[in-house]
Amino acid sequence: MSSGADNPSLQLSRKEKKDLKILALFTSVYCRDHHAAGRSRLDGLPQELAALEKYSCCAECRDFLLYAIDRRLKCPLDDKPACKHCHIHCYRPGHREKVREIMRYSGKSLIRRGRIDLLWHYLF
Ligand SMILES: [Zn+2]
Repeated sequence: MSSGADNPSLQLSRKEKKDLKILALFTSVYCRDHHAAGRSRLDGLPQELAALEKYSCCAECRDFLLYAIDRRLKCPLDDKPACKHCHIHCYRPGHREKVREIMRYSGKSLIRRGRIDLLWHYLF
């Protein structure tokens, strides 16, 4: 493994990809139920994350998601703990509440709609 310090291309671990997929899925579920207008597919993502372009959300949620992705990719902790157990708390204050709300809402929503398979698929 080379160290990625000067490496311009994104090298994502399986765990990072999975985390970001969950983030995109959950944000799009939340957005679909809260923001009806102006939703469009995600674009402008790094090549490595092209798989996330199938998710769509509004401009506000897109901003949030891009920010969250950016934070996740810059997480300095190698074996990243769950964010709620992390001592760094890199999200800016408003975003931390928002990500928590999105996770709670979309987790419940997927279970209610019988999409436990999706959760299972992404979480385990
Ligand atoms: Zn939205």
